Amino acid sequence: MNKESDMRREEEALLHTYNRFPVVLERGEGVYLYDTEDKKYLDFAAGIAVQALGYGNQKYNEALKKQIDKLLHTSNLYYNRPVTEAAEKLLAASGMDRVFFTNSGAEAIEGAIKAVKKYAYLRDGHTDHEIIAMNHSFHGRTLGALSVTGNKHYREAFEPLPGGVRFADFNDLKSVEREITDKTCAILFEVVQGEGGIYPATVEFMKGIKKLCKERGILLILDEIQCGMGRTGEMFAWQKYGVKPDLMTSAKALGCGVPVGAFLMAERVAKKSLEPGDHGTTYGGNPLVGAAVSAVLDIYQEMDLLSHVREVSSYLEQKLDALVKEYEFLTARRGVGLIQGVVTKKTVGTITAKALEKGLLIISAGSDVLRFVPPLVIEKEHVDEMIVKLKEALEELTFES
Ligand SMILES: *Cc1c(COP(=O)(O)O)cnc(C)c1O
Repeated sequence: MNKESDMRREEEALLHTYNRFPVVLERGEGVYLYDTEDKKYLDFAAGIAVQALGYGNQKYNEALKKQIDKLLHTSNLYYNRPVTEAAEKLLAASGMDRVFFTNSGAEAIEGAIKAVKKYAYLRDGHTDHEIIAMNHSFHGRTLGALSVTGNKHYREAFEPLPGGVRFADFNDLKSVEREITDKTCAILFEVVQGEGGIYPATVEFMKGIKKLCKERGILLILDEIQCGMGRTGEMFAWQKYGVKPDLMTSAKALGCGVPVGAFLMAERVAKKSLEPGDHGTTYGGNPLVGAAVSAVLDIYQEMDLLSHVREVSSYLEQKLDALVKEYEFLTARRGVGLIQGVVTKKTVGTITAKALEKGLLIISAGSDVLRFVPPLVIEKEHVDEMIVKLKEALEELTFES
């Protein structure tokens, strides 16, 4: 068995929906991954912002192993203690009142959409409510999540998608205001647009939207799937702005590797939206993911991970700013905490491919942005190492072009 045969077998068996990097990853340790040939990679992708604790956290692994030996799954027809504990901890961390666990981010978005629609329906009995979402947003690949994803490239072949969605420009309050009608039941956006190119919401936008929602009786849904779970230095990015949503979604780092998402809401919404029979999931919130979420939230606290993110991210920002100054084809840095983007005039795919050769995993966001979403446990020395490797990659590009 070698790398080429591994890759060929996978290409022949799996549906070809990804153009993968030519590497077969096998194991992880701390903030490093190793491939089947034992080559070491510094991981600044974290499985797309999932592996917040890196790899091989003992406490996390032990919690999962213990739960596997006890009970994996029971369905939502019965009570289970791990999910109750996970829910209580997540509500405490978010200040929300109710949570529904899903198996992915897209399903969390689906659930939030259903909740706001049901809320609006119970309020006025109409069935033609609208949601305002943003251009360049990303909310997932299911049909409902695509219906609120403002990117033609992801949507076009799958039209018609569920309707009743209007798109406005992110960080443009006037543009959102223009799309409001008497049917608008919710406004949805990412506090930091991820796939769309790492654009943080402005303070004015966050506060302005909150005010609009209050005045017009519209629910605010914030998608924290990528930017949440500590990545910005707050548990959830909205906490930085002091703008609390009526509903929010989480996933990615929520389980640090087990497939779990969640949509959460205020009691006021919960009381008048989804009821028994309205929504369900076979796996969602089973004992295994309950144990994972619970362990993750405990570990965040014990490590004081949010303080760590604030400290190490300001160092990363300095280093990335210096990089942008140094290379004329790097034009800007955007981001908050450990979700950062660097805009490049050179093809982003060429850079990430070169970085891989140098033993660095980084990914893209949109067509021209290098995305940095490392494990939250990285140290300054890993930032230094990343910069060295990235420069090696960039130097070869400069040379070749
Ligand atoms: C990744 C992502 C999703 C979709 O999550 P999946 O688990 O891939 O379904 C939704 N919203 C945002 C902001 C994301 O980054």
